[in-house]
Amino acid sequence: MIYDALVIGGGPAGATVAWLLARSGWSVVLLEKTVFPRRKVCGEFLSATSLPLLRMLGVEKMFLDMAGPPVQHVGLYAGARILSAPMPVATETGAWGRALGREHLDCMLLNGARQAGVEVMQPCVASKLAIDHGIQVCTVQQPGKDRGFEVQARVTVAAHGSWGKGRLPTHIPGRKPEPSDLLAFKGNFMRTALPASLMPLLAFPGGYGGMVHTDHGRVSLSCCIRRDVLQQCRRGPEPHRAAAKAVLAHIMAHCYGVQSALDGAHAEGAWLSAGPIQPGIRALHKDGIFAVGNTAGEAHPVVAEGISMAMQGAWLLADLLITGRNEIRRGNTRATGSAYARAWRRHFAPRLRSAALFAQLAMAPAATRILLPLFQYIPGLLAGCTRLSGKTTAVIPVSA
Ligand SMILES: Cc1cc2nc3c(=O)[nH]c(=O)nc-3n(C[C@H](O)[C@H](O)[C@H](O)COP(=O)(O)OP(=O)(O)OC[C@H]3O[C@@H](n4cnc5c(N)ncnc54)[C@H](O)[C@@H]3O)c2cc1C
Repeated sequence: MIYDALVIGGGPAGATVAWLLARSGWSVVLLEKTVFPRRKVCGEFLSATSLPLLRMLGVEKMFLDMAGPPVQHVGLYAGARILSAPMPVATETGAWGRALGREHLDCMLLNGARQAGVEVMQPCVASKLAIDHGIQVCTVQQPGKDRGFEVQARVTVAAHGSWGKGRLPTHIPGRKPEPSDLLAFKGNFMRTALPASLMPLLAFPGGYGGMVHTDHGRVSLSCCIRRDVLQQCRRGPEPHRAAAKAVLAHIMAHCYGVQSALDGAHAEGAWLSAGPIQPGIRALHKDGIFAVGNTAGEAHPVVAEGISMAMQGAWLLADLLITGRNEIRRGNTRATGSAYARAWRRHFAPRLRSAALFAQLAMAPAATRILLPLFQYIPGLLAGCTRLSGKTTAVIPVSA
């Protein structure tokens, strides 16, 4: 069988694009290498700009019932300072974003896709992709089986994120470790003193992070830290302490707000780590392969916008693929690819640039020393930064 679309990866980007295509009558196969539910290194905050998409897919209520409280304030914890300002509401929904554990969100989206008719193959790894007479041919490996099998489709949507290594044309080539690499960590806590409606940005030397109330009374603490700074932290008084423990000690030593929020709290579940993260924009379309989510481009997670960008980018792509279906069936993907690349850059490139700037400022003690008094006396600045990160403007308007 030749499917209309092959989707590689069942995270928010892959599940959303597969679901949207299937509900428009496309035959879609999706490969996901892990077994769900699974936790993931992620702050888990979803901007309100993605609520209309969840509504359209019929899962907004499920999301709101499961997710943590509305995030009505944005904050900044740096040194001894604890700043907060009202979070601007999303222009079209008048709502606030919320956080939901990835073990729930990703299952919700993938189950929805499955029910809409997507053939989900899981756990299955896409290990190789070739083109034969204009048809995408993907080699698939199943854990524990020696022999792979092939799946064929007219187009491929690469939604495998940015951390995997392998031989797909959309994999980011490996490189030598650099001191400036940003390694990512995430832990969950219960019984914290973090105000329920607040999502503070944590700024500390060599890194940044965030905290937010997520589902079931949990708080997620996620962060990125430079490789060289992590190494220094681990050389301290207890050189063999686990990396996550060293990272948390470093954050607590430089963010009084985290210290007080975690006073009396206890960790729930193991710490997770990943990375290095790979911020930047990559090839968005080539030879019938469309990249979406982190495979297309990754913003520094300082802005907590990656899930939203993944889902809204998926919506954008699905819309263009559906419009260009007749051309695609004739084997011409170039026009759709160019339109997608243009639209993706227009919507998301400015967010990536502002995220990169915020990340550099948050990680540099000299910059935070200069900027903190400004944020303290002009609270509108924090809200302004939130707007620049894309938290208030949907990519596809609600009426679409
Ligand atoms: C520290 C940190 C905090 C963050 N906090 C937030 C936040 O609060 N809010 C927010 O919006 N964003 C946040 N992000 C970003 C967000 O996690 C990502 O942008 C988002 O997960 C991207 O979704 P995706 O679907 O593109 O990729 P992913 O979520 O990475 O999904 C890719 C999927 O593809 C599968 N896969 C990979 N390779 C293959 C293969 N070869 N074959 C089959 N399947 C494969 C993987 O198993 C995975 O399930 C954070 C990121 C970090 C690092």
